[in-house]
Amino acid sequence: MARDSFCHSCGAPFPDTSRYPRRCTQCRTEVWANPMPVTIALVPIEDDGRTGLLVVRRAIQPQLGKLGLVGGFLEEHESWTEGAARETREEAGVVLDASTIEPLWFASSTPRPNRVLLFGAAKPIAVASLPPFLPSHESSERGLVFGPGKLLDVFAFGLHVEAAQRWFSQRGITGEHDYRVR
Ligand SMILES: [Zn+2]
Repeated sequence: MARDSFCHSCGAPFPDTSRYPRRCTQCRTEVWANPMPVTIALVPIEDDGRTGLLVVRRAIQPQLGKLGLVGGFLEEHESWTEGAARETREEAGVVLDASTIEPLWFASSTPRPNRVLLFGAAKPIAVASLPPFLPSHESSERGLVFGPGKLLDVFAFGLHVEAAQRWFSQRGITGEHDYRVR
């Protein structure tokens, strides 16, 4: 059954379920579709004199097999930085101090513009300090991308590409990207 087909207060069917807010004709209760923040981390990893961004290869749909920055929906008790640190640990096995994550950029997604992506930048980590990667049902591989060029060919989502390109641009890093499993 579609979400919010019936009034949560009195159980009467909503006359119009094509959009929000929905107004119950019986008891006047209104239901709103709350915006949904998605927190995404840009985690710089220093590797052999270069700094790359942490990515994982998606083992789930959509865009199975493509690369993505680490991130996901916030849990109810979390700040956006705590959510970014948790997702980084769950998807890539990398531990971040949430208090060091700083805002980089935010953007609305399509086709649902109230799903808002919050991109945060972490402090650089030495590649030698990364724990071994254990594949999960979500991520089959962990790697680093070096450079902003042609990321659309390998990334799952255009907004992740744009965020990564902003990060590289701020550091004056140009040219076609390189990818390394780490
Ligand atoms: Zn009602």
